[in-house]
Amino acid sequence: MKVCVVRRSYTYFMEQKLANIKNSETLQRKFLTSYRSLVPEKMYYLSTTMIKFAKSRNLDFSMNQDQSDKEVSKAILPANLVVVMTHDLDSKDCYQKADTIADTNKSFDIPSTFNLLTNGSYKLNNLDLDRWHGSGIEIGIHGDSHDLGFYDREPKEIEVRLQRMIRRLEDFSPTSYRHPGLGYSDTLFKVLSENGFKCDSSIASKYLKPRSIYKSHTFDVNPSHIKEIPLSISDDQLFRENRFSDMEALEYVNIVSELIRSEGGVLCMNFHPMFLVKRPNFYEKLCTMLRSKEKVLFKNLRDMYSE
Ligand SMILES: [Zn+2]
Repeated sequence: MKVCVVRRSYTYFMEQKLANIKNSETLQRKFLTSYRSLVPEKMYYLSTTMIKFAKSRNLDFSMNQDQSDKEVSKAILPANLVVVMTHDLDSKDCYQKADTIADTNKSFDIPSTFNLLTNGSYKLNNLDLDRWHGSGIEIGIHGDSHDLGFYDREPKEIEVRLQRMIRRLEDFSPTSYRHPGLGYSDTLFKVLSENGFKCDSSIASKYLKPRSIYKSHTFDVNPSHIKEIPLSISDDQLFRENRFSDMEALEYVNIVSELIRSEGGVLCMNFHPMFLVKRPNFYEKLCTMLRSKEKVLFKNLRDMYSE
């Protein structure tokens, strides 16, 4: 296994601290949300890409070879690897490209969850929803708009808006949720639970955010008893923050998946259709790689709590 690049990246993800983030995360989210409503969508994505590009320039890939070797060799264990594939449809581009991804998932027999916006920059079409749902895709909720500060709104506002989202998608009984930009709060979990949600995937594991205290294990969020499936891999992380080539990204996912297998966790991933179609070969190669692994169980978010 060629591990040079991923070992450096992995060491970075495990050990480096994002010490240069000065503003509080909540303030940043509120700023970005208000900014998003003022500029065209493509410009918004271009600017957030540039922010992430600038942030990643100062990385110091200090290596701890011994530790990395130990982590990699530990990874070759015969346990099952549980893979949860999700796709957040953030934009019109995502929505328009979703069928391509649905087809790919179907051809690899990989179950998935589409997390939708009910009042975003695309209009939900019931024919699309029926087709996706009919082909086995779970319909989850990603928000009304892509409000990065939703989790921090007044409880009443969270409740009213969430109930509106549920009403729009009531034919599909959504019970899985992911917050835009991975936000969460006790209030949000409480309201989700009171409104029939069973599962959330908005918390980043340590594989996605080095500052996270969470591993890749699922857990109950007390006292709401929402089941949390931490997110460990995203296309944002691979392609916008780390600027991996396709091969580097595949190797990174390969190594992280074996580490997660070794710790008995869940490999939960999120890929936005609009990013995937710009890298036409990557997603098929990723599915091929995951399918070629031994002892892999593919699930969507709902499968994780309905067993
Ligand atoms: Zn999103």
